[in-house]
Amino acid sequence: MIAKVVVDISNDAVDKVFDYIALDNTLVGMRVRVPFAGRVVLGYVVALTDDTELDKSKLKKIISNLESVPKIKPEMLSLIYFMAKRFFLRVSDCVKLVIPSCVRLDSQKEQLEYNLTPNCDVDSAVNIIGKRAKSQISAMIYLIEQGEARYSKLIQLFSRASVNALIDKGLIIKTSSRKMRSPEISQTSASKNKLTPKQQMAVQTIANQNKTFLLHGVTGSGKTEVYMSVIENALKQNKTAIMLVPEISLTPQMMQRFNSRFPNQVAVLHSGLTEGERYDEWDRIFTSQAKVVLGARSAIFAPIENVGVIIIDEEHDGSYISETNPRFDTHIVAEYRARYNSCPLILGSATPSLESYKLALEGKYTLVELPERINNLSLPPIQIVDMVSEVLDGNTTPYSKTLLSNLDIAIKNKKQSILFINRRGFASFVLCRECGYRAKCDDCEVSLVYHKEDNQLKCHFCGKRYRMLTNCPNCNSTNIKYGALGTERVCEDLKKIYPNVPIFRMDNDTTRGKNGHEKILSEFSKISPSILVGTQMIAKGHDYPLVSFVGILDADVSLYNSDYKSNERTFQLVTQVAGRAGRKDGDGKVVLQTYAPKHYVYRFASNYDYKSFYDKEINLRQATAFPPFSTIIRILITSSNDERARQVTKQLYDKTCQLKTKYGSKIMFLQALPCPVKRIQTKFRYQILSRYIPDDEITSAFYSICDVIEKDVSVFVEINPNNLR
Ligand code: ADP
Ligand code: ZN
Ligand code: ZN
Repeated sequence: MIAKVVVDISNDAVDKVFDYIALDNTLVGMRVRVPFAGRVVLGYVVALTDDTELDKSKLKKIISNLESVPKIKPEMLSLIYFMAKRFFLRVSDCVKLVIPSCVRLDSQKEQLEYNLTPNCDVDSAVNIIGKRAKSQISAMIYLIEQGEARYSKLIQLFSRASVNALIDKGLIIKTSSRKMRSPEISQTSASKNKLTPKQQMAVQTIANQNKTFLLHGVTGSGKTEVYMSVIENALKQNKTAIMLVPEISLTPQMMQRFNSRFPNQVAVLHSGLTEGERYDEWDRIFTSQAKVVLGARSAIFAPIENVGVIIIDEEHDGSYISETNPRFDTHIVAEYRARYNSCPLILGSATPSLESYKLALEGKYTLVELPERINNLSLPPIQIVDMVSEVLDGNTTPYSKTLLSNLDIAIKNKKQSILFINRRGFASFVLCRECGYRAKCDDCEVSLVYHKEDNQLKCHFCGKRYRMLTNCPNCNSTNIKYGALGTERVCEDLKKIYPNVPIFRMDNDTTRGKNGHEKILSEFSKISPSILVGTQMIAKGHDYPLVSFVGILDADVSLYNSDYKSNERTFQLVTQVAGRAGRKDGDGKVVLQTYAPKHYVYRFASNYDYKSFYDKEINLRQATAFPPFSTIIRILITSSNDERARQVTKQLYDKTCQLKTKYGSKIMFLQALPCPVKRIQTKFRYQILSRYIPDDEITSAFYSICDVIEKDVSVFVEINPNNLR
């Protein structure tokens, strides 16, 4: 047999299929070792055939098969080819998405544990061991009393030598079994709710249909409960399920909910796992021990078979589009897998992306709505506070009178509050008031953020740290101005205002380390009154019944982000954050501080009026020819050598101009310029931006232009990127 093999080398020149003579047991989907250009490399068998166009006698033989059961299942193999084509990726890079590196490179192994059982009674043991071997006798007595014990436990209690001696003498029997490393999920006894008629309708509509559904339900409308019912129905039919959530809403609470509803059947996949845990969770899925996969974006590649439903929760979330190579769009992958398995794909959100909602209105997705909260609880009223008039009234602090009085009330009622500020650290920059010097990163063209806790300046782009300034390095002045406030500063201020109220902070700095989020949230959930200050990490997924007040300190940060999605994102963020309030009693209240109180994003968001927002925004997109009415392509060119980066940008730009000539008015916009952030991690950055009428041929033409291998320069293509920094 001839094996068609893709080699595990990230290089366009070798991104094709090579022929080898198969071994007897070689199967499609196996990892193999093959000779390649004088080396031995890892490869993947993508097909087996009888013939080859090459001279059979010259073909090399596969050196070894790396497994007896292929790690790439047929569905995943077809997905690899689909993705390579759809997203213009190398086949070998797609393989890496489908098999995590700990499995692919065998960097982890199955872990064994050893169990000991006694093989005789105390008297006969003493007879054989002799009375003087005290440690052996005690170990024997202990084991006989316990009936059985772990080897690791027994050698810890007694000694390795004694225990081994007992095993050698045949008095103890040692057996091995596989030890599963599984992420710790605390247990709760979450009871199963009886579905409301609306939820039942939703579940029935979705049942087993090979279609895509958009589940548009306000925050707290019971979407998760609907997902769980649909999953339960799939399991009843002996099928499986994949549920995706954004990384930051994969909260302990969510995992507990799933785990108590589907005990021992859930595997979780997320970035917080140790490699050993990832290896075992993946294996539980691969061997069909786990039937429900709960995870972030990359869980869409779980090797689960016979899928009965795929769910993308918070479908509008930006994290579903990966920003690094190999770049893919989770929605498209999910759609492919759903159609492959003939099962429903559910996209759920309180604030669907404009793209998805448009498809639903056009009938390409089936719209299912849950317009009210469970138990008819009201959505918390959102009060908009004009910070301009606040300043005119003489309050120059970042906290309006309305915000503080609402905090007072919540504290008095022993309720919890959440304050949202989408900036971490103490101050967004430091600046000399005398000469205008601004502290910047050496390696990136950005301001440094002041972190008071560590008394350091940090670069949020590359992580580099610097000493805080006491005086200006330029003019020696000590008159330093602090930039816009972040979570750290808010906590410090609140501690002064409310010295007796526990204040928690949740952002990238406080949640490092294993279970970082869980620790903060579980403490917060136990204490009221209390205040949780956080970045967008607090916006999603949390269901804390005691939260009655939510304050949005500075929503304008995201509104003035100046890309085409900033309105949409701000609307989503406000809705999501507000949705944390009043989830149990419906007594929530939200205050939104802004310098643009009349902006339609806030007007519609404060009325929870998604549809009006959609109408307004979609018209704007149409009028300005932005997605979904066009495709944006961004070609990012980076290099440590500025001159080289510019040369390549120029070359590529000339080629794109030829495309513009060819496709005429279909390409509406084309421009080459330095990126807004001109340098990151010592790399100079340029971009070519284009917008065109959605057309696969044009996309493909752009990609083939970029298919150049340039020394010292990297070229990266993105379609409808989430950010353009
Ligand atoms: P969403 O995912 O839309 O935000 P959830 O499914 O988390 O909503 O539901 C919000 C709250 O309402 C949760 O505390 C959940 O336990 C509760 N809930 C959901 N469905 C029901 C129901 N049918 N009966 C009673 N409580 C429910
Ligand atoms: Zn100065
Ligand atoms: Zn930097």
